Amino acid sequence: MLYLDNAATTELNKEVLDEMLKALSSYGNSEAKYYAPAEEAKKLIAQARAKVANIINANESEIVFTSGATEANNMVLKGFCLANLNQKKRIVISAIEHSSIYDTCKFLESLGIEIAIVPVNKTGEVDLKALDMEITDDTILVSIIYVNNEIGTIQNLHEIDKICEKHKVALHIDATQAIGKVKLDFKEYNSLKFTTFTSHKIYGPKGIGCLVCKEDGNGIKPDLIPLLHGGEQEFGLRAGTLPTALIVGFGKACEIAQRDFDGNQKILLKYENIVIDKLKKKFGTNFIQNNEFPNRIPGLLNVRLVGYNNMILLKAISSEIAASTGSACALAQPSRILKNIGLTDEEISQSIRISISAYCSEVKLSKLDLL
Ligand code: PMP
Repeated sequence: MLYLDNAATTELNKEVLDEMLKALSSYGNSEAKYYAPAEEAKKLIAQARAKVANIINANESEIVFTSGATEANNMVLKGFCLANLNQKKRIVISAIEHSSIYDTCKFLESLGIEIAIVPVNKTGEVDLKALDMEITDDTILVSIIYVNNEIGTIQNLHEIDKICEKHKVALHIDATQAIGKVKLDFKEYNSLKFTTFTSHKIYGPKGIGCLVCKEDGNGIKPDLIPLLHGGEQEFGLRAGTLPTALIVGFGKACEIAQRDFDGNQKILLKYENIVIDKLKKKFGTNFIQNNEFPNRIPGLLNVRLVGYNNMILLKAISSEIAASTGSACALAQPSRILKNIGLTDEEISQSIRISISAYCSEVKLSKLDLL
């Protein structure tokens, strides 16, 4: 099987699996006191927390483990909104957010929060003038997807941060698709108060991710009402016994993503060029790359095969090649992302996302010759 749906999820790295297998037999509850199994779990979690923090240059105490980016995104939107509700009532997002942001905002809108959606241009970059105009005195939070999951666009974080700073409004970025592909320094951006990401997009296990909350000079995090109550874990922000082995896996995946960053960039570029060449050869002028953009991550292609319905094509090749029409979290409808960068319904119905693993190979990619 040639697996080309790595933006949906990645396979588990063998080094990660080995560390997790060892950690699975660590049965202690990390919150318990005095006895050895609890201390061992505590130590494993602390080591992993340092690795997760390190990949974005955050403090260890800024990392709050969650079940993934969906939970972390819900937590920042609902939690920060609830904590600030008596003062403000507006959230500003982009037109190409992941459904875990978009749907959460729709829910908050039903409760009376104003949601402003800033348009993007044809390459998926946020309209900075519109962003500046949409941030009112009433704005609680700006939330922007740093790297888009369907088209790979990398946002101009410096400019977005400057605009938020000018308005003195807190910024959250969903960095789920950025980690391992774009270097992010959490300390570099003054208005950046929150970021979220997940383990299973960087060859780590599913079911674990984090919300990163910026501490001020006194080590105080922004006010946030937890989604889950019932325990003092994670600085009182996320109750529940910590899953030691998942956290260990997440930590190892971050360590490897950081270690292999440069090599992975090169290899992903090489593989995406191979894919493009093969598709051009096969489909000629019927092959169009939807995301030939200046600022995008390597390894994520959104392509249109004129004359081919995407669902029929993907089903027909599914025994040999796995790819997708877009986000696995929103497959029921035509892509909102492609629509918002200006594609027609017909163009969307001919578009597929090809997202490549750094652990792919030229031999595996030769399966594309079967098309
Ligand atoms: N945000 C983005 C940009 C994503 O691509 C995803 C994964 N589809 C998520 C959030 C949700 O992540 P998780 O699967 O960890 O809940």
